[in-house]
Amino acid sequence: MAVNRRNFLLGASAAAVAAPGVAGLFLGEEGVEIDALRQDSLWTSELPAIPAQPTYTGDREVDVAIVGGGYTGLSCAYYLKKFRPDWSVVILESHKIGSGASSRNSGAVYARHVGIDDQDMAQRGLDRLLGFIESQGIDCDLTQASTLTVLKSQGDADAARASMKDGEKWVSKEELSEKGGTSYYAGAVETPDYFKIQPAKLVAGQAKAALGSGVEIFEASPVTNIRSGKFARLTTPRGTVTARNVLIATNAYTPRLGVLEDKMYPIHQYSFATRKLTQKEINRLGLDRWNLRFEPRTLPVTFSLTPSGHFFVRFVLGYASHNSGEWQDIEGARALAKKLFLQRYPSLANIEFEKSWHGVTGHTTLMKPIAGPISDEGNIHVSAAYNGLGIMPSHNFGYLTACRITATDDQDLAVLSGVSGQVPMPGGFYRSLMLKPFMNLMTPV
Ligand SMILES: Cc1cc2nc3c(=O)[nH]c(=O)nc-3n(C[C@H](O)[C@H](O)[C@H](O)COP(=O)(O)OP(=O)(O)OC[C@H]3O[C@@H](n4cnc5c(N)ncnc54)[C@H](O)[C@@H]3O)c2cc1C
Repeated sequence: MAVNRRNFLLGASAAAVAAPGVAGLFLGEEGVEIDALRQDSLWTSELPAIPAQPTYTGDREVDVAIVGGGYTGLSCAYYLKKFRPDWSVVILESHKIGSGASSRNSGAVYARHVGIDDQDMAQRGLDRLLGFIESQGIDCDLTQASTLTVLKSQGDADAARASMKDGEKWVSKEELSEKGGTSYYAGAVETPDYFKIQPAKLVAGQAKAALGSGVEIFEASPVTNIRSGKFARLTTPRGTVTARNVLIATNAYTPRLGVLEDKMYPIHQYSFATRKLTQKEINRLGLDRWNLRFEPRTLPVTFSLTPSGHFFVRFVLGYASHNSGEWQDIEGARALAKKLFLQRYPSLANIEFEKSWHGVTGHTTLMKPIAGPISDEGNIHVSAAYNGLGIMPSHNFGYLTACRITATDDQDLAVLSGVSGQVPMPGGFYRSLMLKPFMNLMTPV
């Protein structure tokens, strides 16, 4: 069967067809877009597949239905069962569990919520995630390391050096060239502030924890319509779910569901990795030190050495004026990625490139996440738009949403303010008008 992007008619009962080797391919008419082919990321291809989950069929009533099985949905489901083991909790995932941003990201974990200044809350969120990883015995290659912020222009380098904080260290152009494999930059600041994970291993661990606590997960089960009410009603191609509470955990894919279309938008990212390098090559190419290198832009470019020895770049391709989760010019993206790599690391010219993958992040105009109830009845919740930095926040907001739904107290619940304080973002032509100048600043070559 040809693999093409197809569309769903909102609320229509289209037939679902699972294509071999593809998480989910759905035939339908117009409406909710379903990605045709989500090419595995490097991270996913390194692991045994997460056991497949059934497709949702029938008509059921549940306590909580979660739309989307990434970090947010899995986290919320796990904590819901922890607080209320007697509740029925289902996750409806359109493709394969974790096949969205959660298995496509760069694996850098910070004590930071973009758009929220409360550092104590961010630290609590990080401690919660690290505690969860430890208590569940999740092997996700968690390591603590430092971030290297690399500066291209002398002016930026001088400014960054002058404003270094306690604990930060200056790395000169010469040191970078000698020990870091690149003479492209004027200098860099080393900050000892981050944790690194293998993203797909965290998905696998979260899925195991959720399933182990009694959550039911359905794959290839896209929600095509959500009707609000005291009992919300969710439509999937092969059945409906009536739920007392709903969490929409679809992050960058949320607006194409027809939800929050004027409040958030997807930004497309692309990652490109070398083949696995030997330790000798890693040393020779100067990649053994500073395994996360961050090139600041409107949205930064990341270079990183993976735990398994691939060197990769992640950069911003652009935005979708029509909320699509797909990027049409993947060949162009690949060519750009290679050019970008070789400008900064010409010594990689003879190294083969092995893997590339696309992903989307969810953004808001003021760069604040959207989390909290969004329906009049207060029983349809959303948690999305982490503005590019969501590994810790998705876990934390999943937890907080579970607290809110189960009336479990937590000092940070006030952050679940729904859409209040969000500024509208138009679609189509007007979005282009607003975002184009901003996006042009991101093109890194
Ligand atoms: C390239 C890239 C690099 C990144 N790097 C970092 C980083 O280094 N550090 C960091 O902190 N964050 C990073 N992020 C962000 C981080 O990955 C995300 O914020 C986080 O994964 C969001 O998790 P989520 O569960 O909310 O969304 P997702 O993982 O996207 O999950 C949403 C799920 O909803 C499903 N879905 C969509 N529509 C429907 C529907 N109609 N019905 C049912 N299911 C549906 C999707 O299939 C998907 O599985 C990066 C993201 C990308 C793309």
